[in-house]
Amino acid sequence: LHSLSCDVCGTSPRGVKRKKQVLNTQLSKKLRMVAGRARKIRQIRNPKQVKQKRLMKKIASCKKIHLSTKILAVDYPSDFVKSISCQICEHILADPVETTCKHLFCRACILKCLKVMGSYCPACRYPCFPTDLVSPVKSFLSIMNSLPVICPVKDCQEEVCLGKYCHHLSRHKEIKDKEGYVCINKGGRPRQHLLSLTRRAQKHRLRELKLQVKAFAEKEE
Ligand SMILES: [Zn+2]
Ligand SMILES: [Zn+2]
Ligand SMILES: [Zn+2]
Ligand SMILES: [Zn+2]
Ligand SMILES: [Zn+2]
Repeated sequence: LHSLSCDVCGTSPRGVKRKKQVLNTQLSKKLRMVAGRARKIRQIRNPKQVKQKRLMKKIASCKKIHLSTKILAVDYPSDFVKSISCQICEHILADPVETTCKHLFCRACILKCLKVMGSYCPACRYPCFPTDLVSPVKSFLSIMNSLPVICPVKDCQEEVCLGKYCHHLSRHKEIKDKEGYVCINKGGRPRQHLLSLTRRAQKHRLRELKLQVKAFAEKEE
């Protein structure tokens, strides 16, 4: 199903990647630089893909609710960071789900993308329906939960593991802009309803995005 030459993952199916990650923490700076450069070249080479990625991020519109990979406390190799981030929004996976083709996305991101862009995996175009989405294996979730992150709240900077981040954040109650941070892996669903968008506004936005997708597709022809 999932091809070895997937140009979204860049490397290989997740199973292999996960095994590698223990060794990868010792990867030299030089190797990391090479990987970074290769990724840059690939992005420049394929402007269509860059455009598509930007569009998917717009559809996800989760900048204020998901966590940036920049808050990871450890400077992991780029392919490891990729394996724990959403292929749509590139944030740290929030309430991750897996497709039949073994690609990982935030639940909210993939559901929005399927709705707007059609029933295909945004990473590899393999057919994908909401009912195909499953929870990743427990060992992966426990890796996710144990990732050390630096609390981005101003003047905090405390290091906590991702699984406890939600609880940690609740201690910042007095800080206004905590609204909207999503709690991951806790009983499945993220508290995405903290978003103040009304249903109607969301529908309107969805329609606009559909038009944008159409315009985008026409331009590509
Ligand atoms: Zn892939
Ligand atoms: Zn996101
Ligand atoms: Zn996402
Ligand atoms: Zn896929
Ligand atoms: Zn904090």
